[in-house]
Amino acid sequence: MRKLTREEKFMRVAIRAAKRGLKQGEVPIGAVVVYEDKVVSSGYNRRAKLQLASAHAEMMAIDRACKKFGSWRLPEGCELYVTLEPCPMCMGASLNARVDKVYFGAKEQKGRSLTSELAASNLLNHKTEVVSGVLEEECSALLTSFFVEMRKKQKEEKERQKKQDENFSQREI
Ligand SMILES: [Zn+2]
Repeated sequence: MRKLTREEKFMRVAIRAAKRGLKQGEVPIGAVVVYEDKVVSSGYNRRAKLQLASAHAEMMAIDRACKKFGSWRLPEGCELYVTLEPCPMCMGASLNARVDKVYFGAKEQKGRSLTSELAASNLLNHKTEVVSGVLEEECSALLTSFFVEMRKKQKEEKERQKKQDENFSQREI
């Protein structure tokens, strides 16, 4: 097996975080903040558990990094690694926290994330460099298998429900 690059190594940590979410029934998305070649914080999607629209992996990781540094403005050179292309809220948070570089794995399929537009918009007088496709296959596979499994479960549940309804109507006859 070939050696992982630096970027891939950090993306692997984000993938591990995503898998922690998966175990809890969340859509598997993970993120880490890296500073001076060290992971300072990580987070995973917890939207279902917390029932919060803002409980995205990136928000969790950025909030934790800010807490660690005791500042909403992260030190120069901070990087964010996330397994899926960030949504506009998370790209906005990255800009607000002055993240310098965002690496993501899988691309948002609908292509409506505005990632590059936001990164280049110079909002808040800060530009963030974006690198896409880091361990893309691994990151995509994680999401795809989650959705396949979810649909399978939904189908099984529907069939179980149907059978139950049939049993009821037979009894009524
Ligand atoms: Zn997001």
